[in-house]
Amino acid sequence: MSTPHDPSLDAYWMPFTANRQFKQRPRLLTQASGMHYRTDDGREILDGVAGLWCVNAGHARPRIVQAIARQAGEMDYAPPFQMGHPKAFEFADRLSQLTPAGLNRVFFTNSGSESVETALKIALAWQRARGQGTRTRLIGRERGYHGVNFGGISVGGIVGNRKMFGTLLGGVDHIRHTHDLERNAFSRGQPAHGAELADDLERLVALHDASTIAAVIVEPVAGSTGVLIPPQGYLQRLRDICDRHGILLIFDEVITGFGRTGQPFAAQTFGVTPDLMTVAKGITNGCVPMGAVFVKQEIHDTFMNGPEHLIELFHGYTYSAHPLACAAGLATLDTYAEEGLLTRASELQDYFADGLHSLRGLPHVIDVRNIGLVGGVELAPGPEGPGRRAFNVFLDCFEQGVMVRTTGDIIAMSPPLIIERAQIDRLIETLRTALKRAA
Ligand code: PMP
Repeated sequence: MSTPHDPSLDAYWMPFTANRQFKQRPRLLTQASGMHYRTDDGREILDGVAGLWCVNAGHARPRIVQAIARQAGEMDYAPPFQMGHPKAFEFADRLSQLTPAGLNRVFFTNSGSESVETALKIALAWQRARGQGTRTRLIGRERGYHGVNFGGISVGGIVGNRKMFGTLLGGVDHIRHTHDLERNAFSRGQPAHGAELADDLERLVALHDASTIAAVIVEPVAGSTGVLIPPQGYLQRLRDICDRHGILLIFDEVITGFGRTGQPFAAQTFGVTPDLMTVAKGITNGCVPMGAVFVKQEIHDTFMNGPEHLIELFHGYTYSAHPLACAAGLATLDTYAEEGLLTRASELQDYFADGLHSLRGLPHVIDVRNIGLVGGVELAPGPEGPGRRAFNVFLDCFEQGVMVRTTGDIIAMSPPLIIERAQIDRLIETLRTALKRAA
């Protein structure tokens, strides 16, 4: 006997979503503009997440929309291997002016996950190219999220994303995460305690020997696993250990890139420069799928200016440097520059932090943390099990016309960088109401 269902919601296998549960209470978005979405039943929703940490300049910005439309009419597609198009070079050049010094070579991908795979492959290939071919081990971190492809879930540290898929990549190890509610709860900005956790990398060097380790990858601020801000001194300590042992340091800036923490990149906010940096999301303001890896020039030069057997990298995608993505990206950079968006989070962060931290003391709130325009509120798990209480808060906020995000017991916010103070107030007050009701 078949159960009643709405056939129109059946065929689409939704990513990271319980389809069955979704169908009971569908949330369908049909329009977006500036700070707001509109639902299929005509409700306006304030976007507290920048879509999914990506629409940093707000939705449907006319300049970006027009650039995409113009490009689609002018040249829809160009093969990226042994061919090029001017906007790809222009976009890479413009990006290289925003990155920390030295990270001035740009490899284009189509997503954060692809950026991670690309960075890991470049790291392995580079160690081999410089005669250190025994360096095949990759180090990630617990609670790290690096996308969903095999390299990314292997170095990633989310059990749910790993356990369904077998043994994953061999030769991967993990350092501990830095989340420490006992010492750091309710920190504003970087927590005071935990720099010494970077010494986990020394422990792995002692265990495996540096001659077997190619690279370590971390998110400067872990986003998807609940807005975990690096303790003061932690990233510098990781950098020092990498330098001592010839290990490449990769920052995954898929969320933190393009202004989220108050500077164009978190590497600049925290004053620590990695050897490779992965980005996506805000690179095109979320309009067209795209990612990139920023690479130190000397790493690039090892391949591209190397001996005859090394004059290219055997890696790339059909849609690397897609013309629509490059056109969107150039218009996005223009928008960011004209409106000062890449540093706007540093102007608003105190106001945002004041609002967030005013939620301290509400029932079940066990931590509030923030940097730039990203914040997390952690709840004690309820009797229904981990994540349920936070998910109910998310649903309540959505009913009230505000979109936040939940990950486990954490409610995360990362609004478009165009947000106004009154909209920050609305975000916080909506959450306050939902938290009180959840009690
Ligand atoms: N790395 C990080 C740090 C991310 O936050 C994400 C996505 N949230 C990814 C990689 C994967 O990006 P994508 O979903 O575009 O593949």
